[in-house]
Amino acid sequence: MSKKPSLSHELTEQLRVREGFDLASFDRGARPGLKGGSSAAEDLLVEQGGILDELQEKLYAHGRSGGTRSVLLVLQGLDTAGKGGIVRHVVGLVDPQGVSIRSFGVPTEEERAHDFLWRIRRALPQPGRIGVFDRSHYEDVLVARVDELVPPDVWESRYDLINDFEAELVAAGTVVVKVALMVSYEEQGERLAERLERPDKHWKYNPGDIDTRLRWDDYQEAYQAVFDRTSTPHAPWHVIPADDKRYARLAVSQLLVEALESLDLDWPQADFDVAAEKERLEATRR
Ligand code: AMP
Ligand code: MG
Repeated sequence: MSKKPSLSHELTEQLRVREGFDLASFDRGARPGLKGGSSAAEDLLVEQGGILDELQEKLYAHGRSGGTRSVLLVLQGLDTAGKGGIVRHVVGLVDPQGVSIRSFGVPTEEERAHDFLWRIRRALPQPGRIGVFDRSHYEDVLVARVDELVPPDVWESRYDLINDFEAELVAAGTVVVKVALMVSYEEQGERLAERLERPDKHWKYNPGDIDTRLRWDDYQEAYQAVFDRTSTPHAPWHVIPADDKRYARLAVSQLLVEALESLDLDWPQADFDVAAEKERLEATRR
């Protein structure tokens, strides 16, 4: 048996939420599907870069020639879970021209005047693009539920609305990749401590992060409900153990590779006569 670091072909399967998924017993320090340790994950991510880059360029070319497909990567996770690192280290592996990244914070007054999906719809990727949501419509059944920002009957009704919305997206040609990065309570404590310790990380710290941490159990319950109620065949959730950042990045890169491969795109056919154009170019020779 080879000792070479590698990623299992079943990785996506292993991370996908299925019936009976139990967040409370989920091991956040595991590296499912990875043969090798954390540094192997880092090396493998470099290899993934080339693969992702070519697949993304094909998607972009497809969009430029009238194609309608797109990919939407939805990133969820509590503070310090590593959402920003995914954007930087995984999404950063492809041409920024083909990517649209949106972060969702506390809704503005204008956004609050509309239904919760309004700002989401406006941020959807154009055909040919990879859209990335750093937080998403799921905040409207997470923080909104835990902090009681709306009455229970309102957030209750949102799970079905979200499923219908995502079904609509998928029917229109978007592959929806939903990723929840799950850190342990201990690891989150360490990451917050580091943010407080290092002046170059203070900008990432928010005193409200401690209030959120105090509601840890309520958030776990709210996340469990998200997985139970919105992991659908057309848009399943993938829960990523995120105590090892390098593993989490590799895992998300593989989910993106598979999403792009599922589009099964070829390079678009030239809409001109290649031979004739070669002759015309030849004729310009001086
Ligand atoms: P960060 O991602 O660290 O910049 O933080 C963004 C903050 O905005 C988090 O505390 C989220 O819980 C909050 N947030 C995002 N979406 C919503 C929403 N729909 N309603 C209320 N708060 C939200
Ligand atoms: Mg934050």
